[in-house]
Amino acid sequence: MNPIRMVDLKGQYEKIKKEVDESVLQVIESTAFINGPKVKEFQAHLENYLGVKHVIPCANGTDALQVSLMALGLKAGDEVITSPFTFIATAEVVGLLGITCKFVDVEWDTFNLDVTQLEKAITPKTKAIIPVHLFGQSCNMEKIAEIAEKYELFVVEDVCQAIGAEFVFKNGEKKKLGTIGDTGCVSFFPSKNLGCYGDGGAIFTNDDEIARKLRGICNHGMFKQYHHELLGVNSRLDSIQAAVLDVKLAHLDEYNAARKKAAGFYNKMFENHLKLETPTISSFSTHVFHQYTLKMKNANREAIIEKMKEAEIPVMIYYPIPLHLQEAFCYLGYKKGDFPVAEKLCDCVISLPVHTELTEEQQRYICEKLLEELKN
Ligand SMILES: *Cc1c(COP(=O)(O)O)cnc(C)c1O
Repeated sequence: MNPIRMVDLKGQYEKIKKEVDESVLQVIESTAFINGPKVKEFQAHLENYLGVKHVIPCANGTDALQVSLMALGLKAGDEVITSPFTFIATAEVVGLLGITCKFVDVEWDTFNLDVTQLEKAITPKTKAIIPVHLFGQSCNMEKIAEIAEKYELFVVEDVCQAIGAEFVFKNGEKKKLGTIGDTGCVSFFPSKNLGCYGDGGAIFTNDDEIARKLRGICNHGMFKQYHHELLGVNSRLDSIQAAVLDVKLAHLDEYNAARKKAAGFYNKMFENHLKLETPTISSFSTHVFHQYTLKMKNANREAIIEKMKEAEIPVMIYYPIPLHLQEAFCYLGYKKGDFPVAEKLCDCVISLPVHTELTEEQQRYICEKLLEELKN
């Protein structure tokens, strides 16, 4: 049995080596390292895949979020609502822009924003909601869109973990996540569902004017050469990364299907276990399983993780501390008990390896070990 990894980028590369090597070599030979034809090609292919009017490539997912807030005109003193149960980048950029981050608790079942609690967090200063499609499935976008319209708020989707997943509207219509809000923000960090070989990111929008601003801000606020209309940033996707991504985009659906299959296997192995709760999939979303995350009940999670690591099975806690209790956010004045669901999740979640190269033999080994440890 091959060693088990949380993400097996090596195994994945071996299968697409010829295509990737050729594509990267083309960039090197062309020397068009920045904004070359590969970036344009990938951008067009991604627009087509997502069914969105504009894809604006940028340097990483964090920048995608920051540039979105800047392009929508948010400024210091405004308020933005998001989840306390996410990677820090989502809320970090809010704080860096001097915007006040207001957290709203998440749902126990899906780990995503609890839309029934959104309205009570809205104040006259609220300008935007950032729904985070955590672990690969959608927030309730229909409800979020309805609230956003009522209070005239922007919606910036954090789709860093859910590229390729779809929201299913009540009328049966489906849309790719990241194409429903005013902007969608994605990361191409190597371990994400569509990962490059370094850092990368992109912003999606269907709005021409927002697209124009996003492009300008990513390029030092420059809309006409050496005329700077706004203060921007330097955030670009390298042509070499675009070359890798263009190859991998063609495999994305197949990759996501492999993750889903692996999740299905785990679900079967852990079905009805008294100490484990398997992931719940919302009726309005497809799931691309960026993470396969269990909740543990009446178990010593830390001791079990130690035992799993001893057996060379990598497992992770996403996330051990909710954002409202992070030291970096203590200035916001939140305290323990403010978001009880997020806090309780941080104490009981465990994510198992899930990736495109996982074999049934490896999965069986992981499951047997976990089930054995749960007996103690
Ligand atoms: C990875 C991630 C980000 C940040 O993406 P980078 O490319 O690492 O900057 C933001 N939000 C979420 C939910 C993520 O998982």
